Amino acid sequence: MAMNEPVLETSPKVSDEVRKTTCYMCACRCGINVHLKDGKVAYIEGNRDHPVNKGVLCAKGSSGIMQINAPSRLRAPLKRTGPRGSGEFEEISWDEALELATSWLEPIRKSAPEKLAFFTGRDQSQSFTSFWAQNFGTPNYAAHGGFCSVNMATAGIYTMGGAFWEFGQPDWERTKLFMIFGVAEDHDSNPIKMGLGKLKARGGKVIGVNPIRSGYNAIADEWVGITPGTDGLFICALIHVLLKAGKIDLDYLAQFTNAPCLLNAATGTAEEGLLLRDSDDKPLVVDRATGTLQPFDKEGVKPDLAAQIDIDGVTHKTVFQHLADRYLSDDYSPEAVAERCGVSAGRIKAIAAELARVAFEEAFELDQPWTDFRGNRHEKMLGRPVSFHAMRGISAHSNGFQTCRSLHILQILLGTVEVPGGFRFKPPYPKPVEAHPTPHCHSKPDCPLDGPHLGFVRGPADLALKEDGSPARIDKAFTWENPLSAHGLMHMVISNAHAGDPYKIDALFLYMANMSWNSSMNTRGVMEMLTDKDENGDYVIPRIIYSDAYSSEMVAYADLILPDTTYLERYDCISLLDRPICEADAAADAIRWPVVEPDRDVRGFQSVLVDLGARLKLPGFTDEKGDPLYKDYADYMVNHQRRPGIGPLAGFRGNGTETGRGEVNPNQLQRYIENGSFFVEHVPPEAAFYKPWNAGYQDWAVGLGFYDKPQPYLFQLYVEPLRRLQLAAEGHGDRQPPDHLRQQIIDRLDPFPIWYAPLEDAAVDTDAYPVHALTQRPMAMYHSWGSQNAWLRQIHGQNPLYVPTKIWQENGFKDGDWAKVTSVHGEITVPVAHMAGLNENTVWTWNAIGKRKGAWALDEHAPEATRGFLLNHLIHELLPPKGDGLRWSNSDPVTGQAAWFDLRVRIEKAPPPDESQPEFDALKSPVVKGPAIVRQKVTS
Ligand code: SF4
Repeated sequence: MAMNEPVLETSPKVSDEVRKTTCYMCACRCGINVHLKDGKVAYIEGNRDHPVNKGVLCAKGSSGIMQINAPSRLRAPLKRTGPRGSGEFEEISWDEALELATSWLEPIRKSAPEKLAFFTGRDQSQSFTSFWAQNFGTPNYAAHGGFCSVNMATAGIYTMGGAFWEFGQPDWERTKLFMIFGVAEDHDSNPIKMGLGKLKARGGKVIGVNPIRSGYNAIADEWVGITPGTDGLFICALIHVLLKAGKIDLDYLAQFTNAPCLLNAATGTAEEGLLLRDSDDKPLVVDRATGTLQPFDKEGVKPDLAAQIDIDGVTHKTVFQHLADRYLSDDYSPEAVAERCGVSAGRIKAIAAELARVAFEEAFELDQPWTDFRGNRHEKMLGRPVSFHAMRGISAHSNGFQTCRSLHILQILLGTVEVPGGFRFKPPYPKPVEAHPTPHCHSKPDCPLDGPHLGFVRGPADLALKEDGSPARIDKAFTWENPLSAHGLMHMVISNAHAGDPYKIDALFLYMANMSWNSSMNTRGVMEMLTDKDENGDYVIPRIIYSDAYSSEMVAYADLILPDTTYLERYDCISLLDRPICEADAAADAIRWPVVEPDRDVRGFQSVLVDLGARLKLPGFTDEKGDPLYKDYADYMVNHQRRPGIGPLAGFRGNGTETGRGEVNPNQLQRYIENGSFFVEHVPPEAAFYKPWNAGYQDWAVGLGFYDKPQPYLFQLYVEPLRRLQLAAEGHGDRQPPDHLRQQIIDRLDPFPIWYAPLEDAAVDTDAYPVHALTQRPMAMYHSWGSQNAWLRQIHGQNPLYVPTKIWQENGFKDGDWAKVTSVHGEITVPVAHMAGLNENTVWTWNAIGKRKGAWALDEHAPEATRGFLLNHLIHELLPPKGDGLRWSNSDPVTGQAAWFDLRVRIEKAPPPDESQPEFDALKSPVVKGPAIVRQKVTS
């Protein structure tokens, strides 16, 4: 038989070299081995040694090979020749491009640096881009967090010093009950999938709370198809049930949270509702052993949760007593919230009971001694195997900050944060608010800004306001409208710049942000604002510079294009100063390096910024003689020091063996490359849990340079900075909000989490627009830049509107039908598909599949352009007018988070149009269309 069989090569040689770098097909940042054959990428596999993915690679990651072959890659710098929005450009040299950019930016810096708005999208070099903007001197800098998940990040930092994703993860080895809210796919892509695999293999349980049963919810053991925007109410009901049953961790609350801290009850004073503090400004607790007031961190103190203390005839109670009063209210009983949430009272009680059972009856101990910040030695670590994860689904609502806060309160009441089996922080988190900067906004001609742009407001004094009380920033971040806007409000930049509210700008400089398409609300309106001219015939936004690697829709709306490389052709720094790749057991950072050289006239954007910084003679980029400090971004990664001994990369410093702190090592990048492009430093066993209170962890963190001295802190069930802002709204203090915002601040900035209906519910007639409309992130793609990938397009080449059974039947829909979907702002006509696993009052579609004709080098008849669509056309960046003449942003009033998911629509059957509506004219493409077939032979 063997004689007639053909001889097959079952292990063909696919590469002659392997180069290890870091994936960027999503923000998870797995380690990858890039196999090269004859100098070309032949295939990509996961790096088994890498701390993030341990060899696992997803469909997106392996499709990176098509990303660097994409016809949509920009090929050279471009200068606009036709009208804005036409897509007509000429290719120019880099010298010409950089001279042009300098000629636009230099006068702005010398006269009024705030006239430059510099905003970046999904880049991962924010500590660098913010450093550049700070040296330029403009207050107008932020990344995309304001339209992504700032509610999640900010609520986490203010409550417990960190949130999910980069901040932390479940203890996947030990957790038994995992509850996820508002997550389909996530930035933490492979680790969550690996973790879920471990959990399921152990027989653990997953509860998914999401109106849509997609992504992780599809493998949940229990799915809660909640009504959008009511997660906070549902969580408050869980808290109500747990408090009523006494199923909370009193010992944890007393030791590690501000539950035993005393609130000032002196009614009507400027201190009402603030924490009682000693002369060193430390919050006070009553010591159970002595009955005396003591600073919370005094050695040996045993805080009393039930203490009450009389001072000058006023009785002051603990945070815990106030919290119990709040959530034991019948307003939060399961019966009171069930209908609104679309979850029965019995189910809410059953879920609360399950959380309590696993947290308390399946508690366990690790034989691991540790010492807390009060000097107490503990022989064991107590585990509670319940963990949570949440993301944009609960965040992107106008009530999202308080909803995210309520979830953290639930975690803390169960005693499941930073304990074995629970949720664990990833270094350099946790960090209290006090370890973060406050926002800075004071700009002067020809000077750097007075400090970092973004930060955490402690009270009215930190708001970014000018002397006259008007907003200092173009996006109105850190104002009374949204005081805790720690990531800025990118979704308001173009609208405010166009309206000249609070002022006009001269130049808009964007990186990796598809603002004329899927990254904007009110997409058509944004296109009009970008192309609008004033009475003199000049563009209202005079200059637009844009950097992207691909021919996205935004390219057509810029005057100057600075073409970026792909992630396999560049140096990048995934830094502990920024958004690192740490795991709960280890601090880690990583690099990318050019595993292949670009075959086009493109440059890494960060290197372009280094060059521009030198041409503009920015202080952080030039020495005292005005000579460039750095050759390019790689040079900056090695030689820049943010503080003495602390640079962008923590590994291989000094002589190559120093970690965290150390002198510059000229061979640092080579050491990273030899190590697989990452560096990892493990947390010592005694420091692995209880990180905010663990003396061992605090010392380890100081050694690595996360902070300069130990700073243990308490979790904040009660967020005092919110109360300080409320006090101002009540009339206390010098810095006062405008009258029209006083009640909003008092109502929405409650120091305990509250629930209120999404603001669009109050702004529109919900009988006319009865249906909720959402998007989900596709598991196989990452926003727009994956959806032109030839392999990934095979999975999602178009996106129907998914409709639940009730609405499907009411409208008599059949397969192949189309529907008109109308919001208060606009209408679209799109293909529909039936989905049973969906909240009965919700429709949804995949995010960012729809494309504009002419963009991304796709054929004009590509399904993405003819049947694909965006929900963005239905969403406005402003709420409908209230008749008061003011512009009210469609954002969370605490943080400014874009309220994408508050959208209300009505849906009706429509005759099939030729294409999804609205249709737009095709853009002229600055790149050629892709060939029908791409062949690359990689085996020998
Ligand atoms: S999860 Fe993200 S970073 Fe990891 S392999 Fe997939 S695309 Fe790449």
